[in-house]
Amino acid sequence: MLFMEFSRCCEKLEATAGRLDMIDIISKELPGLTEEELPVFVRFVMGRIFADWSSRKLGIGPNLLYEATGAVAGVTREKVIEKINKTGDAGQAVEELLSVKSQTTFFHEELDLVHVYNSLISIAEQEGKKSQREKLLAVRRLLGNAHPLEGRYLARIMLEELRIGVGEGSVREAIAKAFAVDSVLVEHAMQALNDMGEVARLAKSGPAALQDVRITPFHPVRMMLAQQGSIAEMIEEHGEIAAEFKYDGSRFQFHKKGNWARLYSRRLEDVTGALPDVIQQLLGATDHDVILDGEVIAIRDGKPMPFQSVLRRFRRRHDIADAQEAIEMVPNVFDILYLDGETLIDLPLEDRRKRLESVVNLYLAPQVVSSDPAVIKKTYDDALAAGHEGIMLKVQTSSYSPGQRGKNWIKIKPEVDTLDLVVIGAEWGEGKRAHVFGSFLVACQDAGKLIPLSRVATGFSDEQLAEVYEILKDSVLKTSGKEVTFEPSLVFEVGYAELQASQNYEGGFALRFPRFIRIRDDKDIPDIETLESIKERYKRQANSAQAYQT
Ligand code: AMP
Repeated sequence: MLFMEFSRCCEKLEATAGRLDMIDIISKELPGLTEEELPVFVRFVMGRIFADWSSRKLGIGPNLLYEATGAVAGVTREKVIEKINKTGDAGQAVEELLSVKSQTTFFHEELDLVHVYNSLISIAEQEGKKSQREKLLAVRRLLGNAHPLEGRYLARIMLEELRIGVGEGSVREAIAKAFAVDSVLVEHAMQALNDMGEVARLAKSGPAALQDVRITPFHPVRMMLAQQGSIAEMIEEHGEIAAEFKYDGSRFQFHKKGNWARLYSRRLEDVTGALPDVIQQLLGATDHDVILDGEVIAIRDGKPMPFQSVLRRFRRRHDIADAQEAIEMVPNVFDILYLDGETLIDLPLEDRRKRLESVVNLYLAPQVVSSDPAVIKKTYDDALAAGHEGIMLKVQTSSYSPGQRGKNWIKIKPEVDTLDLVVIGAEWGEGKRAHVFGSFLVACQDAGKLIPLSRVATGFSDEQLAEVYEILKDSVLKTSGKEVTFEPSLVFEVGYAELQASQNYEGGFALRFPRFIRIRDDKDIPDIETLESIKERYKRQANSAQAYQT
């Protein structure tokens, strides 16, 4: 497939509003693609480049892209940024700039979908001192051969924000339709493989291949997530439930095959190098080939330390040995997804737990199983007394659903009034904070769209504002007056006093007394709060206010 054909397809999708029409357009493209093209097309159309399990990063910031565009279009970087500010979209700006260029230059070669993918792989593989320069040259080469329309989508793919409204759900349905397989099977395969490209390839060979999927060690699986709820509701609905401490640290997934082991963060980044102590501990806990799910906490004087100290270790690239001495890291293992070649995610929790207990003898998170609210409440009190965040309640019969924030895992903690939201804009600070961003616009998600929810201007220390500035300064997409717009990626945990219905924000809600709690760099856009769950919180808030009054 030529990259031009792919671009035309994107253009068509961008102009299509209906989800069913989108599914139809995508499903018609899939059967004609070769084995090699199919996974690339599927990932690209979702705005992704690599498999979701892959830690590979393109390593191109907006600035590098602007510079390359400027070089190809024969204008300065400032002109490129000006154009982006005007159009509000890097893709469109690149398209417009290339269309001026295309009147004067000849193209050297026609871009091909797989060729573009291979070029992106080599860009990602550039490492070391000269890598930025090499990356810049490679991006220039790609853009230099791109027609304006291709430039639009190439730029957006490189920024990993395609903006054509195609979510994973639509692609799942399109695959099901194209190859006449059940979309539940497609979803099931996606949960185990964590790569829609590979899933499409299997779907092409039929339902048996999808049914047969196995988790592969060292291809991390998305983490199962939790919702808020109450002890009473859980017991009422399920009777006997499993309760575990809710550790306030960092989530990990440990993969081991023979003597080879890797550790992945909640965002599925490979953090093996940063945590050799944890790897050693877990290697000592089992002789089997396993994939384990757990939370690692930092301990000092027998007490858990704040979650930030754990994150600092996850991020660490240098002086690892010194860091190991300062604080003790303790993994707490609470689930098993794979054992000696067998994929376990479809087993009920109680069976997974039995398997876990039979092969892991250290670092197991204790579990209390009971239908008695008093027993569960006591576990909760014990958790808080020991310095943990609260408890997790889990449905005994539930399978492990990767990436799902379902009702099978419920978190109970004293403070329920925080939301994880992505930063989409900011205003420059004032006075002594004039050189950093001072107030931030944060958003929740709704069906693949980001919905602004609040401005956050309090709760920051000067150090935190400086840190946030460092993280965000290269993600500025647009500046107008004191306002800046960011490429969304940084997640804040935001505290608030109350949710209010509001016409001021598109989602219909606003936060009363929003305040910054902390950066959640273990979280990504898919992990942020959904508008749906905010509506539920709003309802729950209204109910408890009523209960309080009567
Ligand atoms: P939250 O980040 O507030 O949505 O809470 C869910 C997170 O709690 C999970 O993603 C884990 O990182 C963490 N956690 C701590 N203890 C447990 C546990 N026993 N079971 C599952 N998740 C846990």
